[in-house]
Amino acid sequence: MTTQRQFIASGALLCLLAASPPQGETGPQWFKGNTHTHTLWSDGNAAPEHVADWYVKHGYDFLVLSDHNILSQGQRWMAVSESADGRLRTVDVESLEARFGPGWVVERRGSDGREMKLKTLAELREKFEGDDFIFIQGEEITDRYEDHEIHVNGLNLDTVIPPQGGDSIVETIQRNIDAVIAQGKRLNRPVLAHLNHPNYKRSLRPEHVAAIEGERFFEVYNGHRGTRGHGDIMTDATEQIWDVALTIRLVEHDLGLLYGLATDDAHDHHGNGRVSVPGRGWVWVRSDRLTADAIIDAMRAGDFYASTGVRLADFGADGRRLWLQIVPQPGVTYTTEFIGTRLVNGAPAFSGQLLVTSQDLRPSYRMTGDELYVRARVISSRLHPNPFAEGDLETAWVQPVLGPAGLRH
Ligand SMILES: [Zn+2]
Ligand SMILES: [Zn+2]
Repeated sequence: MTTQRQFIASGALLCLLAASPPQGETGPQWFKGNTHTHTLWSDGNAAPEHVADWYVKHGYDFLVLSDHNILSQGQRWMAVSESADGRLRTVDVESLEARFGPGWVVERRGSDGREMKLKTLAELREKFEGDDFIFIQGEEITDRYEDHEIHVNGLNLDTVIPPQGGDSIVETIQRNIDAVIAQGKRLNRPVLAHLNHPNYKRSLRPEHVAAIEGERFFEVYNGHRGTRGHGDIMTDATEQIWDVALTIRLVEHDLGLLYGLATDDAHDHHGNGRVSVPGRGWVWVRSDRLTADAIIDAMRAGDFYASTGVRLADFGADGRRLWLQIVPQPGVTYTTEFIGTRLVNGAPAFSGQLLVTSQDLRPSYRMTGDELYVRARVISSRLHPNPFAEGDLETAWVQPVLGPAGLRH
């Protein structure tokens, strides 16, 4: 454990003391979570308890059920279909009864026949929450400007935020983010907004992502196969978007660092579709406590990384060096790429240049003086068992830190 780590955020140095805890007390731990998943409350294909059960059984510590423009609150009835391609099938209801016992499923006869009542977040909390698992209430605020899809996840919300609209792409993004920030202020608690899947329907370009004010989060990895994470002939990969957006933010806007998340965006929970299944991408967050506020605070401080399988024991930076420590798996090798943008004669040389590559389990990068920011990507030799795209290797993305040129800028 590092005795003191310094994370650099938004041009200021945030000193996070992580001194060794006194005996008998636990220090910061890593918590695994997914902040983007859908259920029958919107267009997911499974009951919320089915979805929660999967994440609990697969070792997640926290989960955000982020349905489109809705929170899992109040009464909602879903028709039970006899058809094999219905959204809620007879067989699904039977499996819920088998898993959760008699009396769990609440049904009625509605105008269209048999209906099942969807569990609310309060009911799910009662069933699943404990010392090692929590929900963070959230919503995918789902908006659009012309044919550009603008989806923002609001985390740790209390009331639903309707899509805010706007007169441009950037204004629509910003108004939705501002609504999340405003709710946090009103509730006096930490909230977080992350901008989702920029390449979905080729909606957002790096300059749009770069312009986010008051927030600093976007999905560098989204497990939904419709989101074009690797880019295509017309579209940059989301990692390239990250580097270009970081460079624009720091050089032109002075808006500070942009942090990357990996999420599932799962809709297909029955193994009957491979488009967006659970278990593709997640975040590891370092926190003293497993509470919604503590997790959000840690993410806001940049104390998390995105992963599709690679685990880290530690990472940190002190303005001169960025280091990490990989948790090795038997028979697996790791390549760490330190990536950044250099300023040459005051101008960015190339956005997202590969600076150094390392095969070490404790790789580190020493700043040379002209780096605007540096981030790290760790690629393992192991194939992702449940990939976004065939051939994807398990990967971790460490958050960027300001380099010497970024601190001077
Ligand atoms: Zn979306
Ligand atoms: Zn989604």
